[in-house]
Amino acid sequence: MHAAEGQRRHSRKMARHFVLNTGATIPSVGLGTWQADPGVIGDAIYTSVKAGYRHIDCAQAYRNEKEVGFALKKVIDEGVAKREDLFITSKLWCTNHAPEDVPVALEGTLNDLQTDYVDLYLIHWPLRMKKGAGFSAENVIPSDIPATWAAMERLFDAGKARAIGVSNFSSKKLADLLAVARVPPAVDQVECHPVWQQGKLRAFCEANGIHLSAYSPLGSPGSTMVKAGAVLEHPVVVAAAEKLGKTPAQVVLRWGVQKGHSVLPKSTNEERIKANIDVYDWSIPDDLFAKFSEIEQASSTTTAASASDVQKLETLAAVRDNVLTFPAGDCVICSLFSPSRLSSPTSRRSLFWGSMAGSFALNTGASIPAIGLGTWHAQPGVVGDAIYAAVKVVLFFQGWHRFFTPFCLLFQVGLALTKLFQDGVVKREDLFITSKLWYCNNAPEYVPEAIQTTLDDLQLEYLDLYLIHGPIRLKKGTAPLSENSLPCDIPATWAAMEKLHEAGKARAIGVSNFSCRKLESLLAVTRVPPAVNQVACHPGWQQAKLRDLCKSTGVHLSVAEPQRTPAQVALRWGLQMGQSVLPKSTDVARIKENLDVFDWCIPEELMAEMLEIEQVKLLRAEFGVHPVDGYKSLEDL
Ligand code: NAP
Repeated sequence: MHAAEGQRRHSRKMARHFVLNTGATIPSVGLGTWQADPGVIGDAIYTSVKAGYRHIDCAQAYRNEKEVGFALKKVIDEGVAKREDLFITSKLWCTNHAPEDVPVALEGTLNDLQTDYVDLYLIHWPLRMKKGAGFSAENVIPSDIPATWAAMERLFDAGKARAIGVSNFSSKKLADLLAVARVPPAVDQVECHPVWQQGKLRAFCEANGIHLSAYSPLGSPGSTMVKAGAVLEHPVVVAAAEKLGKTPAQVVLRWGVQKGHSVLPKSTNEERIKANIDVYDWSIPDDLFAKFSEIEQASSTTTAASASDVQKLETLAAVRDNVLTFPAGDCVICSLFSPSRLSSPTSRRSLFWGSMAGSFALNTGASIPAIGLGTWHAQPGVVGDAIYAAVKVVLFFQGWHRFFTPFCLLFQVGLALTKLFQDGVVKREDLFITSKLWYCNNAPEYVPEAIQTTLDDLQLEYLDLYLIHGPIRLKKGTAPLSENSLPCDIPATWAAMEKLHEAGKARAIGVSNFSCRKLESLLAVTRVPPAVNQVACHPGWQQAKLRDLCKSTGVHLSVAEPQRTPAQVALRWGLQMGQSVLPKSTDVARIKENLDVFDWCIPEELMAEMLEIEQVKLLRAEFGVHPVDGYKSLEDL
C-alpha cells in the first residue's frame, strides 16, 4: 500500500465528518428515513440524536417528513441538540422538477420539518415526472436538469438550502451538470456498499470535489426490492466481522467511512440505531480492508440502475400493458403479471350456508364483502402486486372486493387501484375500500386532514368505510407506547367522523378495537351509529359478549387478523359465525388460498368443539392501557 494512502486511511480512523465543497461539514453517519413508518420514525429520530447522530436523511417522497419535523422540534426544544448542530438533508421529488415548482417543494419540506433551512437539498433522481403523477414509466416527461438546477441554485443563494446536490446521478450526468452549474453540486447520494462500491463514480467525484454519500449502505436488507442478504451475509463481510468482534452492519458502515464517504443506514430499532453509529473508535486493518476490493460487484437495487435512466424507463413504458410500476420510496418496481399468476380459480359451488352470503348488510344499507384483503405489514414493494392480483382473482367469482388500508402504504395501494381502474379490471363502485384514522389523529381537528391525506394517497373521492382505529390517542408522530398516550375525546372525534359521513367522504363510519364498554358509551352519544366494529376475532378469541352486543345494536362485527393455522379453517369458522374476515396476504398463492373458503364448511360437531376452545386474547397492545383513558387493563381491551 502506498504510504500516503495508509496515512490518509489512518487519519480517517476518526472521521466523524467530511468537508463539502461549500466549506460546511457533513456528518459521516446519518440516519436514513426511507420505509420508516410515520408511527415509528419520531421515536427513531429522537433516539438517534440522543445516541449521537447529527445527520438525518429525509425526502418528501418518504411521506414522513411531518413526523420527522415533530421529532426534530422535540429534540431541539428539549435541548438534546441545537438546530445548528444538526445536518438535515431533503430531496426534490421527480414531479417537482419544473423550476417554478422547486421553491414550492422546498417550502413544503421546510414546513413539515419545522425548520427555516435544510443543510443539503438534493435532486432525488435525474428523472422528471408529470406533476402530481405516480413514479411510473408512463409518467416520465423529458427533464431539463440545467433549468431545475438553476432553481436549486436560487435556493442556495437564498440560504434556504445551505448546500445543494444530486442523487442517483451517474458520472456522465454529473459531468453534464458540472458543465452548466454556477454552484457545483456538493454531494451525489447513490447506492453504495461493499457489493456495489461505485469505483468509477467515486473517482469522478473525488476529482471534482463532490462528496459521495452512500444510501442503502447495509444493502437495504428489509426491502423487497433488493437481493436479500447480499451485503450483510457476504463472506468477506462476515469474516471481517468475526475477526473484529463487530456486527456485519458495523463492518460495512465502517468500511464506508474508511473509504471516505458518508453512510446513511436506516433503522427504527433502538439497539440497531445505537450499534450503527458505533464505528468511530476502531477501524478495519489494511489486510482485511484490502479483501473488500476483491468483492464481485452487483447493484443490489433491482431496478435502481434502470430507473435512473430515462431511456430504460421509456422502454418499460413500451411494455406497460404487462407492467405495473409504482414507487417504493426510491426505486421503480416492475411487476410482470403473467397470466398464470392471475389465472382464475376453478368455478365455485354456491355458498353452503344461506346466511353466509358473499356480503353482509351494514346499518347504512350498504353491503360489506365477506372477505377483504388486509395490507398491514405488507411491504411497499409487493402490496401493489397483491392488490392487483387479489382484485383480479376475486373478480372472477364474486365481483366484489374490499380492502383494509392502514396508515402506511396507501400511496402504493392508490397507484395499484388507479391501474386497475384504468385497465378496466374493476370499477370504483364495485370495490369496498376501508381505511382508518390513526391514533395520532384521534382528535376532531385532525380528522378532516387525515381522511384527505388518505384519499389523496389512494387517489379516491370517497371511502366505503372509515374507522377510528382504536379508542386511543397518541401524541403526534410518536410510536404506540403508553408514555405517548393522550386523553382522547371519542364523542368529539366521532362528531368529526359524522361530518365526513355527511359530506360523503366516508360512505360508512365505524370503529375498531372497541370493547363492549367503549362501544356502549359511543352508542349513547352518536347521531350516526357506527356501522362496523373491526376487532381481532378467531376461534381462540371468539368475542362472544361483543358479538352479542353488536348483533343487538346493529353494528357489524368485522374481523381483522384471523391468522390462526390452518388459515382456511379459521377463516371459514369466522364466516360460519356470520362475520366478515380480513386475512392479510401479499402472496398470490395465499391470497387464493384464503379465498378458498366458500365451497366447503366446518361440520356442526366440529363447530361445536371449537366453541369449547379456551379463550385467549392475542393482541398485546400495552400502549392502549392508560390510567385515565384508553383501557384500564389488557383484558379490558
Ligand atoms: P439500509 O440502510 O441499507 O438498510 C435498512 C434496513 O436494514 C432496514 O430494514 C433496517 O431494519 C435494517 N437494519 C438497520 N440496521 C441494521 C443492523 N445493524 N443489522 C441488520 N439490519 C439492520 O437501506 P435503505 O433504507 O435502503 O437506505 C438507507 C437510507 O438511504 C434510506 O433510509 C434513505 O434515507 C436513503 N436512500 C436514498 C435513496 C435515494 O434515491 N437517494 C434510495 C434509497 C435509500 P430496522 O429499521 O428494523 O433496523
